[in-house]
Amino acid sequence: MLDSFHEECGVVGVYGHPEAANLVYLSLYALQHRGQESAGIVSADGQVLLSHRGMGLVADIFKEDIIRRLEGFSAIGHNRYSTSGSTLLKNAQPFCVDYVGGAVALSHNGNLTNYVELRRRLESDGRIFQSGTDSEVILHLIAMSKAERLVDRVVAALGEVQGAYSLVFLSESEMIAARDPYGFRPLVVGRLRGQERPGEGWVVASETCALDLVDAEYLREVEPGEVIEFTAAGMKSYRPFAPHAPTRCVFEYVYFARPDSRVYGRSVYQVRKELGRRLAQSHPVEADIVIPVPDSGVPAAVGYAEQSGLPFEMGLIRNHYVGRTFIEPQDSIRHFGVKVKLNAQREVLEGKRVVVVDDSIVRGTTSRKIVTMVRNAGALEVHMRISSPPTTGPCFYGVDTPTRKELIASSHSIDEIRAFIGADTLGYLSERGLYSFLGEGPRGGFCDACFTGRYPVLVSDDEQPIQLHLFEAKDR
Ligand code: AMP
Repeated sequence: MLDSFHEECGVVGVYGHPEAANLVYLSLYALQHRGQESAGIVSADGQVLLSHRGMGLVADIFKEDIIRRLEGFSAIGHNRYSTSGSTLLKNAQPFCVDYVGGAVALSHNGNLTNYVELRRRLESDGRIFQSGTDSEVILHLIAMSKAERLVDRVVAALGEVQGAYSLVFLSESEMIAARDPYGFRPLVVGRLRGQERPGEGWVVASETCALDLVDAEYLREVEPGEVIEFTAAGMKSYRPFAPHAPTRCVFEYVYFARPDSRVYGRSVYQVRKELGRRLAQSHPVEADIVIPVPDSGVPAAVGYAEQSGLPFEMGLIRNHYVGRTFIEPQDSIRHFGVKVKLNAQREVLEGKRVVVVDDSIVRGTTSRKIVTMVRNAGALEVHMRISSPPTTGPCFYGVDTPTRKELIASSHSIDEIRAFIGADTLGYLSERGLYSFLGEGPRGGFCDACFTGRYPVLVSDDEQPIQLHLFEAKDR
């Protein structure tokens, strides 16, 4: 069964350290926001690969005795976050297999757009699969390659796949990192401080917040189309794929990455704050206070408040102990749902004209509940401000968005959305506003398909792509 199309994930790898698995474990904590469904670590001791995977949060899966068992001088890890229908241990990564060349494990962030096609081809050749995810086809393609060295097998495999991938591979003696030629998803390289020998102290991670936690120095991004091999001889870079005009995911800046990370070479916090400033310039309003929807709206709200000169307040307080596994109550007690996560402070809101800043509206249901909550706490007016353009398109490159039909902005005008969420006014940052400082050219080297419907790599499986083409044709 083909379970999964939308996967956000965190990946990490450590090469050349006696406590590699422990460092990967710590890094997975830093990347927990990128996936809470499952996590895993595979370590290499020079002879064999050792693996542990489980469902849930990093803290629930790994205990001291498990980490101790994951011996070796290198290790890779993975946090997985996916949509419904695929919450199964068989889909947890890193995947670890034996093939004619030895053993290899893989951690993948992103979605392969020609996955269904490739899988059907491999299955008709008699190959069997143990998971329902796209990442497994890469391992089959590696095993099928006739090349001698693992790095050449990886290059051969990646030559056949399309779409989004930030990958870390581990064999008994080496680690390999790779990023697709478009650079859809982030991936960075760092070095543990104090490590001088060529084959020691290398760290690869989705975000720099993981490097900070293990005291590694940020060196650079893995470049789009680059493959990096880590061996006892050190780090070696390969450029097997012609560089493509980059289409890095702009939603990492808007919502997904942690604000204390550097992504694509910039501080996420500073970018979000600047988005808030631009939002205040393009959508000013007479009000008394600015409040964020925590946590995702905080940096943009700081920027909005600074630019507008209005006081920044925490009018909504978030409960940090509610995970994704929280069960939404049904029917008669339904309205309690959002209150489990957020509580409005009457002391802050009563009698005030309030600007509420969030990073995005997806279905609109959260914003609607928040507006009601802020009003019930005594706000006189509620002005919703969103620090990105309307989300109109689903992501096929690795961000968990619902179908186009469920995205409120795909079928409603801004005024209809305003009416639905019950706000006095609603303002989104424009596409121009988004790129006014982010990059050169109209799209600044980013993929913004979720806002514009312009998909840099078309999806070629026979479920979504056909719909996609039809939608595209109808939309224009
Ligand atoms: P909604 O009720 O669907 O409009 O939810 C909007 C909220 O979801 C905003 O507060 C966003 O910060 C948050 N959000 C945006 N994208 C995602 C995503 N891919 N996964 C989970 N939450 C998201």
